[in-house]
Amino acid sequence: MADITTDVLIIGTGPAGSASAALLSTYGIDNMVINRYRWLANTPRAHITNQRTMEVLRDLGREVEDEVYLFAAEQDLMGENVFCTSLAGEEIGRMKSWGKHPLSRAEHQLSSPTFMNDLPQTFMEPLLFKAACSRGTQARMSTEYRSHVQDADGVTTTCVDRLTGKEFSVRSKYLIGADGGNSKVVEHADLPFAGEMGVAGSINILFKADLSKYVAHRPSVLYWVVQPGADVGGIGTGLVRMVRPWNEWLIVWGYDINQPAPDVDTAFASRVARELIGDPDIDVEIEQVSTWTVNNMYATQMSNGRVFCMGDATHRHPPSNGLGSNTSIQDAFNLAWKLAHVIKGKAGPKLLASYSQERAPVAKQIVTRANKSIDEFGPIFEALGLLDSIDPMKMQQNMDARCNDTPEAEEQRKKIRESIAFKVYEFDAHGVEMNQRYRSDAIVVDGQPEPPFEKDAELHYQPTTWPGARLPHVWLFDGHGGKVSTLDLAGHGRFGPALAKYAIAALSLCDRISTSAGGGKRLPATPSPNCAGFSRPFSTGEDDHASSRKRLLHGRRFGGGRNWPQHQREE
Ligand SMILES: Cc1cc2nc3c(=O)[nH]c(=O)nc-3n(C[C@H](O)[C@H](O)[C@H](O)COP(=O)(O)OP(=O)(O)OC[C@H]3O[C@@H](n4cnc5c(N)ncnc54)[C@H](O)[C@@H]3O)c2cc1C
Repeated sequence: MADITTDVLIIGTGPAGSASAALLSTYGIDNMVINRYRWLANTPRAHITNQRTMEVLRDLGREVEDEVYLFAAEQDLMGENVFCTSLAGEEIGRMKSWGKHPLSRAEHQLSSPTFMNDLPQTFMEPLLFKAACSRGTQARMSTEYRSHVQDADGVTTTCVDRLTGKEFSVRSKYLIGADGGNSKVVEHADLPFAGEMGVAGSINILFKADLSKYVAHRPSVLYWVVQPGADVGGIGTGLVRMVRPWNEWLIVWGYDINQPAPDVDTAFASRVARELIGDPDIDVEIEQVSTWTVNNMYATQMSNGRVFCMGDATHRHPPSNGLGSNTSIQDAFNLAWKLAHVIKGKAGPKLLASYSQERAPVAKQIVTRANKSIDEFGPIFEALGLLDSIDPMKMQQNMDARCNDTPEAEEQRKKIRESIAFKVYEFDAHGVEMNQRYRSDAIVVDGQPEPPFEKDAELHYQPTTWPGARLPHVWLFDGHGGKVSTLDLAGHGRFGPALAKYAIAALSLCDRISTSAGGGKRLPATPSPNCAGFSRPFSTGEDDHASSRKRLLHGRRFGGGRNWPQHQREE
C-alpha cells in the first residue's frame, strides 16, 4: 500500500513540470509535483518566451498571460542584436531580431494574439508554480525521486524526503519525468536517445552593473563580444545577455571541454565581465558563477507505458534560438489534455501514444536547429579573419583590415554583413517556433495532401488548417465589437462533439484567411486535436502589453481578473 495516491505524479518543478501541474490542475486532474530542491530556479537561464508558449499561458487564463507581460521585458527591448569588440568599444554589426524588424513584427502580429517577450526563468517558474498550486496541485519540495516501477494499472514511485531522510511511496496512474537534463526518470524508463552530451563547455557569470550608457540606445537581450586575444576561451568571444534592463546581466563564456571545468572565482569573473563591457572601472557585483556543457541529444521515444518524459529530460541542446523552456512548456501542453481525457474516461488510453509520436520529432528538430545555430557563427569569425591564425595580434590585424579603403576590405565588409544577416536562423526564426505539424494516430488527415511550405519553413510561419498543424489565429468579433482569437475558442483542455460547430466555424475562417494571405492552400475544414476546446468569455478587445498590464493591475486592485473557474478544484 503506497503512502500517497494521486492521478499524476510529476517529477520536477522546472518549466515542463510546473506547466504540466498547472495545466492538469486547470483541467481538474488530481496531481502532485516534487522537486529535490527547496525552491524553484535560482538562476535566470531561459528567457526568450515565444508566441507559441504565450498561447499556452493564455490558454491557462488571461491573468496568467498578463502576469508574464507585467514582469517581462517587452519585445521592443529585445531585438537590436549587437556584434561588437566590447560594449564600450567598436560596433561590428547589428541585426534586428526577435520580431524587431518591421516585416517580422507584422508576421508576429498576424500569427498570434500573443507577444514574444523576455521573461527570465526565475520569473516564469514561480508564475507557473503559483498557477498550479492555487488550482489544486500538491507540491512537495526538498523531495527527491529515487525509482519507479510500473504495472498494468499504475506506477509506484519511491521518493525521499530530504529533510527527514525518510523514504515514501507514491502510487499514481501516470508518471511524468520533467526532471531536467540529468533525468533519472528517463534512465529508469529506458528511453532511447540519439546524439551526444558534452560537446562544448560554458561558464555563466551572473552579475549586476548599470550598463545603460552602453546599451539603452540599442536595446537588445544579446550583445556578442568578439575579442581576439582575450585569454580565456578559444577565439575570444563572449555573450553579454540582458537579464533585467539594464542592470542585471549574464555572461556566457566558453571553456575547453577537453579540460576539467575551470574553478571560476569572483576575481576572474569580474575581470571577464569588465573586459567584455570594455570599462575597467565599472562597478560590477558578481552574483553567481556556474559551469555547464553544451549538449546535442534527444529522445527518439518520449514515453514508455505509463511514464511520460518531457523538457530537457528528452531534448538537450544549447540555448541558441531560445527553444529550451519554450519547447518544455509546449511538451506539457501536448500531454496534459490527453492525460485529462484518458483519466476522465473521455478517451481511450491509445490517445496517449500520440504524445511521443507528435513531440519526439519536435525534440529532434529543435536540438538539431540549436546546434546548427552555433555552427553558423563560423562564417562571421571567418569573415572577420579570426580563423586564419591563433596569434591574437594577427587576428586583430585581420579584423581591423575591414576598415581599409580597398576592394578587399569592401569584400570583407560584404562577407561580414552577409554572415551576420544569416544569423536570422537563430535570432528571428519564427517558423521554427510556430510551424510544427504533427503526424500521429490521433490525427485524421483524411487523404488531404500536406500543403508545401511556400517560404522558408524555418523563418516564416505558414498558417494552414491541415490537420495536425497549429490552428491559425484570426480575430473574431462579438456583437459588441469585442475581439476574440480563434485560439481562444479552441484549447482549454476540451475536445469533443460539443466544440465541433465552433471549431468548424473557426477553421473555415482561418482557412479563408490563410488562403488570402497566400500562406497555404485552401483545404476542407476539419477539426484537429489542436482545436481541442471552445467558448470562453469574449475579451475586452485590448490586446497589447500596455493594456494587459493595465488589466492585471486593475484586476489586482479591484480583486478581478480571475476568470478560470471552469475546473477550480476544492482543497
Ligand atoms: C544559459 C542558458 C540560457 C537559456 N536560455 C533559454 C531561452 O532563452 N529560452 C528557452 O526556452 N530556454 C533557454 N534555456 C534552456 C532552459 O533553461 C531549459 O530548457 C529549461 O529549464 C528546461 O526545463 P525543464 O523543466 O525540462 O528542466 P529544468 O528546468 O532543468 O527542471 C528540472 C526540475 O527537476 C528537478 N529534479 C531534477 N532531478 C530531480 C530528482 N531526482 N528528484 C526531484 N526533482 C528533480 C529540478 O530540481 C528541477 O525542478 C537556457 C539554458 C541556459 C543554461
